[in-house]
Amino acid sequence: MNNIIERTYQDFSEIIKKSTQIVIVGHQNPDGDCLGSTTGLKMYIKENYRDKKVDIILPNHFPEYLKFLDLENEVIVFENNEDIVKTLFNKADLLICMDLNKPSRTDSLEEFVNNYKGYKILIDHHIEPAPFTDLIISSVNTSSTCELTYWLLKKISDKQLTENILKPLFTGLITDTNNFSNSVFPSTFLMASEIIDTGLETEEIQSNVWSSYSQDRMRLMGEMLLNKMIIFNDLGASIMILDKETQDRFNFNKGDSEGFVNLPLNIRGVKISALITEDKDYFRVSLRSKKNISVNDLSKQYFNGGGHERAAGGRLFIPINEILPYFENSVRAFLKNNGTAFER
Ligand code: 5GP
Ligand code: MN
Repeated sequence: MNNIIERTYQDFSEIIKKSTQIVIVGHQNPDGDCLGSTTGLKMYIKENYRDKKVDIILPNHFPEYLKFLDLENEVIVFENNEDIVKTLFNKADLLICMDLNKPSRTDSLEEFVNNYKGYKILIDHHIEPAPFTDLIISSVNTSSTCELTYWLLKKISDKQLTENILKPLFTGLITDTNNFSNSVFPSTFLMASEIIDTGLETEEIQSNVWSSYSQDRMRLMGEMLLNKMIIFNDLGASIMILDKETQDRFNFNKGDSEGFVNLPLNIRGVKISALITEDKDYFRVSLRSKKNISVNDLSKQYFNGGGHERAAGGRLFIPINEILPYFENSVRAFLKNNGTAFER
């Protein structure tokens, strides 16, 4: 990326060379960009520096469809490996945080990240990265952390990036852009073009990502669209609540609902879409919007979260029966108060 100064590339490269035990951390509810960027970087370091130990630690499980990026079962999930994680953080001489802009996005790992005393690097593409690391490699003018990592590795590598590195990086590129339909930049297509030119089997990756749904997941999607989607026509807003009862009925696994929140935006007139998922003691909020509406602002103001302009998330701590009126009132107030502010 052009907006990252040369010095940063050199610093990154030198720090990697100096380190021996590296921990890479991703965010809560890891998605394709999170898993792609962490496994891609790990593969690069392993291939180029055989003496280094690299571990990826994620707060909780990643969805089944991303398993093809962790065939060796090497990714460590904190939920199941608390002692191993403690040891790894103690031993590490470098911590790299990827695809997150503040420590709280690592949820259960936040304490480890905050208390870590060694050198820290951030690689990310979210707005307003918190200054919690020694080196920040961040650009919002990038589709994904995978894209940023691709340009970074290309810059510091004197060899061609191998299939094992490109495969995960391409995965995050297509998942974070919803297959090149949002958050795309000229550099995004350039990366795709260069990767296709290497002969990488991108169709296989596309199939792994978009065409490996379980029957339950497909039927759950039908149920949500038919019986759960509520549209406030005057607001151009849609909401779907995926409650516990429905989750149980369709053997819901984390990741099964990925992409659901985008679907109502395919309806003419719908500009804001929310998916509310019942969790243990709160409701997870996922927000998407069409051009000119900042769900980052909407989430910050009403849903205890944030994110990107057109893809954000947050949490609600109210009873389920209050969610619909809360959503309607919040969106109404938001559109009224932010009428011109979010025109971009
Ligand atoms: P998703 O809807 O896919 O869970 O999240 C979309 C985007 O919103 C994520 O890439 C992330 O940047 C942001 N996001 C999701 N949940 C939260 C949250 O609880 N807090 C903040 N600040 N951002 C979130
Ligand atoms: Mn991302």
